Amino acid sequence: MPPGVTVKILPDDTIAALATPPGEGAIAVIRLSGARALEIADRVFRGRRPLASARGFTVHHGKILALTGEEIDECLATVFRAPRSYTGEDVVEVSCHGGLLVSRGVLGALIAAGSREAAPGEFTRRAFLNGKMDLSRAEAVAALIAARTDRARRASLGQLNGRLAGEIGKLREGMKRLCSLLELDLDFAEEGLTVVTPDEIERKMEELRARLDEMSASFTRGRMYRDGISVAITGPPNAGKSSLFNALLRESRAIVTPVAGTTRDYIEESVTLGGVLFSLRDTAGLREADDPVEQAGIARAVESASEADIILIVTDARSGPEEAERTFALIPTDEHHRLIFVANKIDLAAGRAAGLGRIALGKGEYVTVSLSALTGEGVHELTGAMVNATGADGVETDESLPILSERHERILRKGARLIEGAIQSLRDGLTNEFVAIDIREALSALGEITGEVTSEDILNTIFSEFCIGK
Ligand code: GDP
Repeated sequence: MPPGVTVKILPDDTIAALATPPGEGAIAVIRLSGARALEIADRVFRGRRPLASARGFTVHHGKILALTGEEIDECLATVFRAPRSYTGEDVVEVSCHGGLLVSRGVLGALIAAGSREAAPGEFTRRAFLNGKMDLSRAEAVAALIAARTDRARRASLGQLNGRLAGEIGKLREGMKRLCSLLELDLDFAEEGLTVVTPDEIERKMEELRARLDEMSASFTRGRMYRDGISVAITGPPNAGKSSLFNALLRESRAIVTPVAGTTRDYIEESVTLGGVLFSLRDTAGLREADDPVEQAGIARAVESASEADIILIVTDARSGPEEAERTFALIPTDEHHRLIFVANKIDLAAGRAAGLGRIALGKGEYVTVSLSALTGEGVHELTGAMVNATGADGVETDESLPILSERHERILRKGARLIEGAIQSLRDGLTNEFVAIDIREALSALGEITGEVTSEDILNTIFSEFCIGK
């Protein structure tokens, strides 16, 4: 099916899945959704009365029996009546004991009774198809579940609350208004009148384009919140790189994912600092070497440093700026890199205080942080500088929450490109009809974010990334 075609084929079967993580726990929840949810649940559920006669938002105590009559578990069944449920369909949630065999048994009984095992994201897909949530909110559900930092959680929650959908709605309204203005103008032009000046139209289009650019650019931050920032700790041998690595780990409230079994030339660890996810990498010592083995190690360290978003160049505070400069010269950097110079071991350097400074090197000026990895003095300032380098230090308002997916970025960029095309057509003196073509296309592109315009392919791609049971 070509993109741009709205497909809302409502499913008529009933799906079931384990909604809680598989494994042992106090409680496991098995979810059942579809037109026959109550009838199917009643085939295996034995309570005081059938669920089919229960009102929505009620909880019932009972037993789950296999079709053979064998008791599987004692449970609570919560009934949600369409359309007032997550999916918009009739839903039964069975809370049973959280054992692997118990939950599997309950799910098996529900499937034997006539439901089908749900595909990844199928509950949320149904919620979307039933108009319970737009596509951007449905995607936010997956982002929220996957969030590994507070900032990612906040951004996905904002999206779930409809912030992005609201923004897109506003932009699309603006585009619709522009199209009507252009058409209105067309009608009046036939009578020799002008309703809006081209300047006014152009200004409105510029505003639209600027907002689209701003929103697509926010993905740099969004990706950072989602995937984290890579930080390479480099510098000459003995400068204190490993000590700093450990000091940063101590500074972090949470070591997120220890990277197991490194056979590489560096150790890596993910931590959150100031609400931002960093992946720290301790690399081999950098210096000019004659030994070919050491040269190879250094080449790999240089390579791994230049792959990072932030490069910390660590030197001994007693060695002066020349040492920092020499190390700097060994690493190929470009404008994507953020460099922070660290003067370590200030506890040994007489008269040096911990804190921030600046250093001019080559064409640039960089932040320096004087600290002691040993005593921990100045390490907090370094984490501040790292958060600052990510651009995530500002106060985030609802308007500035970033977008979190490549898909949204791609669409917003496409929208900006189309509006730019329309601006160009207007400047070239093309007809209003012609100018409106690009705007209409942008309008339809933006509809893909919220799902007003969508295709089976888009939905399949989005929901395949969900976990089963969501
Ligand atoms: P690397 O080779 O750059 O990883 O350096 P290490 O972290 O292994 O440190 C080299 C030596 O410097 C070790 O003996 C550390 O204990 C010492 N060291 C590291 N940081 C400091 C510091 O801030 N103050 C002092 N006094 N010693 C430090």
